[in-house]
Amino acid sequence: MSLHQFITNILNIKPEQIQDLLTLNQSDGSMVIKIRLVDAHCICPYCNGQTHIHGYYPRKLTHSTFINRACTILYLQRRYRCNTCQITFNEPNPFTHSHESITHETKINILQDLKHPEITYTLAAKRNYVSKAMVLRIFDRHVHIARKPLPKVLSLDEHYLPDSDYESLYCCLLMDFVTGVIIDVLPDRKKSYLLYYLSHIKHETYSYETHTSELDRIQYVSIDMSESFRSVFQSYCPKAIICADSFHVLQHLTKDFNAVRLKCRRETPDPVLAYLLMKFKVVLNHNVQLDNVARYNKRLKRYINLRGIQTVLFKHFPELKKAYELKEEYIAFNETASFENAGRKLDALILKFADSQIREYDEFCIVLSNWKQEIVNSFTVVNGRRINNSHIESKNRQVQRLLNNANGFRNFKRTRNRILYCLNKEDTYTF
Ligand SMILES: [Zn+2]
Repeated sequence: MSLHQFITNILNIKPEQIQDLLTLNQSDGSMVIKIRLVDAHCICPYCNGQTHIHGYYPRKLTHSTFINRACTILYLQRRYRCNTCQITFNEPNPFTHSHESITHETKINILQDLKHPEITYTLAAKRNYVSKAMVLRIFDRHVHIARKPLPKVLSLDEHYLPDSDYESLYCCLLMDFVTGVIIDVLPDRKKSYLLYYLSHIKHETYSYETHTSELDRIQYVSIDMSESFRSVFQSYCPKAIICADSFHVLQHLTKDFNAVRLKCRRETPDPVLAYLLMKFKVVLNHNVQLDNVARYNKRLKRYINLRGIQTVLFKHFPELKKAYELKEEYIAFNETASFENAGRKLDALILKFADSQIREYDEFCIVLSNWKQEIVNSFTVVNGRRINNSHIESKNRQVQRLLNNANGFRNFKRTRNRILYCLNKEDTYTF
């Protein structure tokens, strides 16, 4: 490829459009391309009259087409004057709009960079040889992502976002359980906001012929056990079946079980047992390989494997053993029950938790009773998968990465657009 061809490629123009072309390699490694286009003999856009060349205006355009190399186009833009109405106007050009200092291609490169959650606005600016303010301006101008239609199965989850310009510590992610597409991001998870949001959708999409709105599409809603989510959906989508996300139920259980372990540690006078409860808490986890090769433990002064340690702990702390067994029983129930038998099994489990007299489980017991129907509902299978938010949790991790990389997301509107833009493959910029 000749240099001339190479240059016309990076400028996205045809060789026959070029009148003059000069490439300069600067001492700092950057590249300057001086260019003048062929006279197109434009006619007046206002009166169709004949024109003459009025002059040339040099324009300096950032053209970030290379990685690791700044590139500037010095474009001598021709200006015409109409012979009839005397109006002056610019020749059309393939690089940019009037009054802008960067090329279309640079904008597209910036917008494509921002599609990756790990690329910050600052990094995109650096990669494309423009200022961060410019990157933000381009993003705000070209990325506006509308809410998607509400899906059949809606997952709802919250995300810690303390620095936004809304009076709220959490934002709320709405996702299509079946496709994994993010429907929308809300600035607040509070009941008043959700009520406003849903009523707005209802009024906007209500049909007086069918007496339905878009909200009637929702057949299932998967939520964490938040009372406000439940009551809002009960009033706005009365036909939707509400499911308690199993991940959050297990999270609650794990937290309470951990409290039992910590109580044992606090109350034991034996420093070796206290040490085992901290150092080997892994033996109390679910699905741990306990039958490993025994290793010498200095504090116990003998060879012991993880199962041995578990046995020691259970012997000294019968309540911990009981709490562990209940926890494991709930996990087994969660993994194996079906929609048909979950209600009966859950009733039996609630009784066992209540009978255990473990104070740390009191609250969990209340939660299970309070959310019984929603937990049973969560055993519903749609498209071969049990309804849960694990999908959205993985999206949440991507959001977390996005937010960690951004030095403060104060502007919620921008944050929302960025989350949708990065996490939904199909969402794109507009020109
Ligand atoms: Zn004219």
